[in-house]
Amino acid sequence: MSETVLKIHNVNKTFHGLKALNNVNLEIEKGKVHAIIGPNGAGKSTLLNVIIGLLESDTGEVLFNGENVLGKEPHEINQMGLARVFQTPEIFPELSLLENVMVPALAKHEGSFKFKFLRSLASEKSIKEDAISVLSSIGMSDKLHNLAGSMSRGDKRRLELAMCLVQHPKLLLLDEPTAGMARHDTNKTIDLLKKIKEGGMTKIIIEHDMHVVFSVADKISVLARGAIIATGTPEEIKGNPIVQEAYLGGSHE
Ligand code: ADP
Ligand code: MG
Repeated sequence: MSETVLKIHNVNKTFHGLKALNNVNLEIEKGKVHAIIGPNGAGKSTLLNVIIGLLESDTGEVLFNGENVLGKEPHEINQMGLARVFQTPEIFPELSLLENVMVPALAKHEGSFKFKFLRSLASEKSIKEDAISVLSSIGMSDKLHNLAGSMSRGDKRRLELAMCLVQHPKLLLLDEPTAGMARHDTNKTIDLLKKIKEGGMTKIIIEHDMHVVFSVADKISVLARGAIIATGTPEEIKGNPIVQEAYLGGSHE
């Protein structure tokens, strides 16, 4: 039987009278890649921000392995095993790739941010080895000591993914991981997303690019004007007339 990792129940969010989330109910299964798609302004980022504690919802519950995360601080939710890749890379350009990946690993290890001791703590073998292994798994083992700031945009986004993976999250949330990427970089990221299956990790991916969505998603939910209008397999979503009208038949594809 499938196991639910995240259960979103009756979540509403209003911004100055505008209903950004309209009674959202959604269940995310363990080990699956669940894509959330929808036109611009549909409420996708708002939903993600509610899940990770950056925004307070007006009503509802978000149960992560049965525990309500609403009302918790982002760092508490992160400690519970949720990690998020942001829409714009949040990396340390003046540090090497290896050091960048060690920052979140150390923060998790220490329970606080010990940036200035990073270099001396770099001798902490297990953390360093783990960071190297994560960078190898995303194909960056030959760039360990390159400065992060000197990398291409695509590589920066993959580095940020590594910074999430080193936390060994149970649930990884990705907000448009291929936004602004050239096709070659997008394909590299698709391959990566297919490869990362460690520990039955669950992924929620918000994505505009239908090629990416249909390449990686096990399940797709469609958000339109703050409401979930359909959830199903890629085939079901492709053939759903409501979805085609609201989204797929539009200017995106
Ligand atoms: P998406 O990510 O699907 O493009 P968003 O979740 O960013 O959509 O936005 C949903 C709606 O809520 C949009 O109409 C947007 O303008 C509005 N919105 C989002 N964030 C805020 C905010 N902080 N204050 C006011 N309105 C917001
Ligand atoms: Mg968005």
